[in-house]
Amino acid sequence: MTSVPLTNSHATGTTTTDDGAMPVTNPRTGRVDHLLRPPTPDEVARLCAGLRTAQPAWTAVGIDHRAAVLRRWADAIEANATVIGDAEMTDTGRSRVAHEVPYLVASSIRGWCDAAPGILESARLHGVSSTSCTVSYDTEFDPYALLGVISPWNHPFLLATLDAVPALLAGCAVIVKPSEVTPRFIGPVADTIAEVPELAAVLCLVAGGPRTGRAIADEVDALCFTGSVPTGRALAETCARRFIPAFLELGGKDAAIVTASADLQRAAAAVLKGAVHNTGQICFATERVYVDRSVHDTFVKELTAQARQLELNHPDIERGHIGPFILARQADIVDDHLADALAKGAVLHCGGPSETLDGGRYMRATVLTGVDHSMKIMREETFGPVVPVQAYDDVDEAVRLANDTTYGLSAAVIAGDAQEARAIGRRIDAGAVSLMDTSLTIAIMRDVEKTSYNASGLGGSRMGPNGMLRFLRRKALLTRSGPVPDMDSLREDAAARR
Ligand code: NAD
Repeated sequence: MTSVPLTNSHATGTTTTDDGAMPVTNPRTGRVDHLLRPPTPDEVARLCAGLRTAQPAWTAVGIDHRAAVLRRWADAIEANATVIGDAEMTDTGRSRVAHEVPYLVASSIRGWCDAAPGILESARLHGVSSTSCTVSYDTEFDPYALLGVISPWNHPFLLATLDAVPALLAGCAVIVKPSEVTPRFIGPVADTIAEVPELAAVLCLVAGGPRTGRAIADEVDALCFTGSVPTGRALAETCARRFIPAFLELGGKDAAIVTASADLQRAAAAVLKGAVHNTGQICFATERVYVDRSVHDTFVKELTAQARQLELNHPDIERGHIGPFILARQADIVDDHLADALAKGAVLHCGGPSETLDGGRYMRATVLTGVDHSMKIMREETFGPVVPVQAYDDVDEAVRLANDTTYGLSAAVIAGDAQEARAIGRRIDAGAVSLMDTSLTIAIMRDVEKTSYNASGLGGSRMGPNGMLRFLRRKALLTRSGPVPDMDSLREDAAARR
């Protein structure tokens, strides 16, 4: 990993996609204050070879030892939480969330360490064949030797480790490439890995862009990718050509349905939180809202009143609610979706296009009505603090609109009670449906499996026990007791089965 700080630069900060140095822009100032020097593909290949060499010993030490090593890493992360949090703060332009993340990651590591031995034990099968009583079986686990993780910019440290930790517990070596947009946290995190030498032999973070990502995809035995649909599709093609598994976590366009019986103050608070948290830069952000027509106006009034209370997190990073866009390009996309909606007849109740403050791009909580599915804001991933609200006449229409999407990551239903919400939630084509609130997915990380629908993902759940078991190949060991049947008895068996 090589990253060189730049000082006193006033460049505007575009990223290169070749081997050259990559300028990194500060989201609060719009200035380049950091420079990446990505590894060459040959360097990536050498790193991968080193990780592969160390991996068999890592598998051989067993799950309890691996968990003990990872607990030491969690301790090192917490001991260095301030420096990691500071780096993530510069990467993302937000303070409170950035400084919570090291503790969140450490707690997640410990949670996986607690759960992993039980997950392995309950997945181990042994018994006697149901069709041949002289054949018994048992299961062995064989981890993919080297996992590649390619992650996005919206939650730099969290998303770099989400898949890596269960994979390490499974016995894989892991190479992680976070986004070139937010690479400053890599150095401080690499320092904590270096404090645990056994871990440093099998876990490596590299800074780089698409070219580095492609080099990793060409080397590893399995790939976890979190990011956009187009990149996910390109990497899935690479993995298919190499016959290696691709676990893809992609974009979303989460719908929230609010029924006539809902407590509208609660519904507005839930929808606003789901849409605006992290400036809307969350894959499971609430991106479109469908409200029963009979309560539409009252709901919009309440939502707008609550939205107007939210302050920008500027000029004081420690105050306010809504931080800058991490990426100026993202602000352009959100502005484009808003302009498209307004040009097609949408009505703006509060907020508006992005504004530039001291070089950073910010947007106030923005509420829109009069929207429909001809508008980008209701169909494409917006990734900004915008709440477009559409009225519906009956629940069937609400469900049809919620399911009219190319995505299917998650959704939400807020009704008069959980039972009513559940009856509607069961009909929505999405992997996780929050009831009586929005964006609850993060609360069930190790507990429950979920499958993304449509273009939101591929390759099985990253959550629940499968979040770890997907990195293990199952090997069935089959034992014949007694004599080996001769060819005639095989023929008789087959005849008896017909
Ligand atoms: P992106 O696809 O542009 O980039 C993601 C990562 O892929 C980066 O590390 C990037 O360097 C790398 N990359 C880009 N092109 C590549 C290529 N051709 N080959 C190999 N690697 C390549 O996505 P982004 O803009 O960084 O992230 C935002 C997207 O991530 C949004 O769509 C969001 O919904 C999604 N996301 C999904 C989840 C989830 O769990 N489903 C979580 C967070 C973000």
